[in-house]
Amino acid sequence: MKLVFATHNMNKLAEIKAILPPHLEIVSLSDIGCDEPIEEWGDTIAQNAVIKAQYVWDRYHLNCFSDDTGLEVKALNNAPGVYSARYAGEDNNTQNNIAKLLHELKDKDQRTARFKTVIALIINGELTQFEGIVNGEITEEPVGGGGFGYDPVFIADGFDRTFALLSPSEKNNISHRGIAFQKLAIFLK
Ligand code: IMP
Repeated sequence: MKLVFATHNMNKLAEIKAILPPHLEIVSLSDIGCDEPIEEWGDTIAQNAVIKAQYVWDRYHLNCFSDDTGLEVKALNNAPGVYSARYAGEDNNTQNNIAKLLHELKDKDQRTARFKTVIALIINGELTQFEGIVNGEITEEPVGGGGFGYDPVFIADGFDRTFALLSPSEKNNISHRGIAFQKLAIFLK
């Protein structure tokens, strides 16, 4: 079966191809000639995942899936959530997003947080969703040079190192994205 992964990110595509069963032909948005950005106007992570998959199904009528991820911090009413990538506003980049997060948490005792990934799969018009969550907390300072995004300030429950200090396979085994994609892989087997 051919499945479109609604992403323009070739690193994500390669990562996901390695997880999903080999009988699936996974292609990207570029492979189907969809070069325009898909606007993510949803209020929730799940809504944004569905918007991307629904866009591909409505326009191209191809079986597809998409993922969306956010960091939810309890003391900040689950912010940055859907705004994780652009938390620092116009000057958003990893460093500024992390700086804003640490600033917002400066006077908070409670630093509990979680990463959440939602995958939306559409096969023959039917939508199925898969969720992956990893619970943890936000550190006082960034630690570690690996990973991306908020990895240097997130420690998963049961660990004493930030995500940025884990190897890619250590992180994939316990991460929000790893969990959600394992669920998708089992469903598609
Ligand atoms: P996306 O939906 O996968 O593009 O993720 C949205 C944003 O969430 C990214 O731009 C990152 O800021 C953050 N994010 C997603 N996954 C991770 C992760 O595994 N570690 C750290 N930050 C992440």
